[in-house]
Amino acid sequence: MKGNTAPMNTHELLDAIQHGKELQREHLRSILSLEDHNALHTIFQAAYETKVRQIGKKVFLRGLVEISNVCKKNCYYCGIRRDNSKVVRYSMPESEILTAAEWADHADFGSIVLQSGERSDHEFTNKIESLVAAIRERTGGRLGITLALGEQSPDTYNRWFQAGAHRYLLRIEASNPRLYAHLHPPDHSFQTRLDCLHSLRNIGYQTGTGVMIGLPTQTLDDLVDDLLFFRDFDIDMIGMGPYLVHADTPLAHEFPDFDRKKESQLNLGLKMIAAARLLLKDVNIASTTALQALQEDGRELGLQAGANVIMPNITAEQYRDSYQLYAGKPGLHDGPADTLGPLKNRIEKLGESIAFGEWGDPKHFFTRKSE
Ligand code: SAH
Ligand code: SF4
Repeated sequence: MKGNTAPMNTHELLDAIQHGKELQREHLRSILSLEDHNALHTIFQAAYETKVRQIGKKVFLRGLVEISNVCKKNCYYCGIRRDNSKVVRYSMPESEILTAAEWADHADFGSIVLQSGERSDHEFTNKIESLVAAIRERTGGRLGITLALGEQSPDTYNRWFQAGAHRYLLRIEASNPRLYAHLHPPDHSFQTRLDCLHSLRNIGYQTGTGVMIGLPTQTLDDLVDDLLFFRDFDIDMIGMGPYLVHADTPLAHEFPDFDRKKESQLNLGLKMIAAARLLLKDVNIASTTALQALQEDGRELGLQAGANVIMPNITAEQYRDSYQLYAGKPGLHDGPADTLGPLKNRIEKLGESIAFGEWGDPKHFFTRKSE
């Protein structure tokens, strides 16, 4: 059975990290199970220093536009799943998405992410194709375009790539097929998710994946396997965050004491970031909004634990209420411009600066391509 390794003492772990040894399963497990405050601080510091060596003291921005909450899937954890009839469904008109992209370009974000519920009908796939091309044209090719639009056919991925999208985020959610099956209805296939990731990479996308952290029935060994999955898949970007309960979902019943576990969810999220940075070194790692949902400065803590990307929500306020994957989403009453000023100050307080105007491609992508 996987994961039956002898526990490692903290001294051995810190020694391995300080000597830059390649981390193994037992090191990762030891990071995730650490409780000692000082030792954890040292780990976060080492992960942060690795980030600075690889990327510098800068943070890449991606303006997140939640373009539609219409979803044909029914993931047990997600607030906008098909069967949640309380959700008011919307799809932003193309003109509004373009306005958001132009706003991000003028604010010098460097990149945007278009995210939505999953649809694969022709109307949707065609709309995205023309939208991506229009964003490229309207912003003179200045804005990097990341898509997070779920599982699609290789042909669709290819058309969107040809139109000008160059990064794709598709979380594996849980790299353990048993856990994946526990989180999804029977017609949601782990193998399809994996095939999609392969196809994205083959097409030439900078490929991002990730998991939810602290899920019901998930073990520390599952999380260690997730980290090793990122490594073995040679992933370029990681977007992962704590699982947060949404009351109107089937999985909520499996986590009745969630409100009392927020601190440990946050800490586990931070440990995963640090472990991923120490293991993978040159990838982009997002400090996700789920961290901020647990604690106001959660994203800053993520940056201090080794993350290097922040995705400020630039969706118009009128849609934010209807795009709640989990409860406690921050900034529900903010507009696109509200977050940037305070965020800039917070980042500068950490001794970091925002890499305005940069695409912020992951170094790993180029290393991987040259090999
Ligand atoms: N439909 C697309 C993109 C939108 S969902 C997709 O599924 O890929 C984006 C991410 O939100 C998912 O990958 C999932 O990891 C995360 N998410 C959904 N519900 C969540 C919850 N309750 N807690 C934390 N993250 C959640
Ligand atoms: Fe739809 Fe994505 Fe939510 Fe699953 S996680 S229900 S695919 S929006």
